[in-house]
Amino acid sequence: MLLPIAYSLSQKIIEYMKKNTYVGKIEVLGSLRRMVATIGDIDLAVVGKPYHSKDIIEHFISYPDTISVEGKGNTKATIILSGGKHADLRVIDKERFGSMLQYFTGSKAHNIKMREYALKNDYSLSEYGIKEKKKSKRERIHSFQSEEAFYTFLGLQWIPPEIREGTDEVERAQKGTIPRLVEPKDIKGDFHIHSSFNIEPSHDRGSDDFRKLTKKAEDLKYSYIAFSEHNPSQSNHKEQDIINLIKKKQEAIKQLKTSVTCFNSLEVDILPDGSLALPDAALKYLDFIIISIHSVFRMNKNDMTKRILKALSCPKVKVLGHPTGRLLSKREEIEADWTMIFTESKKRNIALAIDAWPDRLDLPDSMVRLAVDKGNLLAIDSDAHAVDQMENMLYGVSVARRGWAKKHDIINTNSLKNIQKWLNL
Ligand SMILES: [Zn+2]
Ligand SMILES: [Zn+2]
Repeated sequence: MLLPIAYSLSQKIIEYMKKNTYVGKIEVLGSLRRMVATIGDIDLAVVGKPYHSKDIIEHFISYPDTISVEGKGNTKATIILSGGKHADLRVIDKERFGSMLQYFTGSKAHNIKMREYALKNDYSLSEYGIKEKKKSKRERIHSFQSEEAFYTFLGLQWIPPEIREGTDEVERAQKGTIPRLVEPKDIKGDFHIHSSFNIEPSHDRGSDDFRKLTKKAEDLKYSYIAFSEHNPSQSNHKEQDIINLIKKKQEAIKQLKTSVTCFNSLEVDILPDGSLALPDAALKYLDFIIISIHSVFRMNKNDMTKRILKALSCPKVKVLGHPTGRLLSKREEIEADWTMIFTESKKRNIALAIDAWPDRLDLPDSMVRLAVDKGNLLAIDSDAHAVDQMENMLYGVSVARRGWAKKHDIINTNSLKNIQKWLNL
């Protein structure tokens, strides 16, 4: 299932579990804790005293959305939810919670690297903790209340779950060079929001108006947002009609009474030949544009690369929207020379989007890491088409974290002043 579905399901179960007075700390485990784009089952760990375990398990299997109980033991149970999804819960005492959390968060590749590292230092790892392997002494297991203590015991920096993928995180933790990754609270704005303003677009319109969206932006404590509807359809409009529509939108934005600065933007189609679906004369009425591919996804690599490079050359472009065009379990990524595209974007100070739309999550995490290593700017965008979807930003931040992005890699963590400078306003 897609990350946001698993995440919100898990939040509901957590909320429910907290109603039981014997439940202490509660955490998700596995791929969900690592915020992987697609998730298998929902796994949870709860701190509870052994003699309360039975009560906690009973509470869990009584979760209202349960259609059947697949397994039930003294400290563990599995339920099947109405949509057919599985949820697993383990109860563990406080003293061993950290070790268990570490063990069941994975990934498999990370845990293999951890085991190899531990072995070199004469330790072995298990869900119960760290065992000393020195032959002269009696065997003893160190258990840990927190993961931080677990990693510290091994001489490692704590590793955020999102980057526990068995790349170089263990080596980096040894050197103490795991960076502080970007966090949701660092986000100061959203450049990709579709409003219901009738710009007579080529694709779908958003469902909420400027006022609702700016109110939400205020609630999220943003400093700025951009209304980035799809460009007006070219077949139905003359150049002057398009300019008039954009001017009308600009006027409507000016009338807004809000503490949030609202930019006038559009998400403009990159046409198959690399030209943009917007007349040049309209550009000066916009603060910036996002450019995206919305059709003709199958092209040979060379032509696709040329197409994107040509589109990037328009001076008003500031964001390359959902760069790979993938739709999780529906559409493959486009084929293009990403090294060339990343180089060109960097040269032009154009941000690569991390589109937080649940089945996009595009750029994908592995490509975010490439972009970060290359020094590219990234923009985490909700691509919201309705006010509540502005909260999807969280999933974009997770993708950024999985790609090792730091606060300063993400353009929309900047102050309004810096953003205005970046937009040449
Ligand atoms: Zn789009
Ligand atoms: Zn969009």
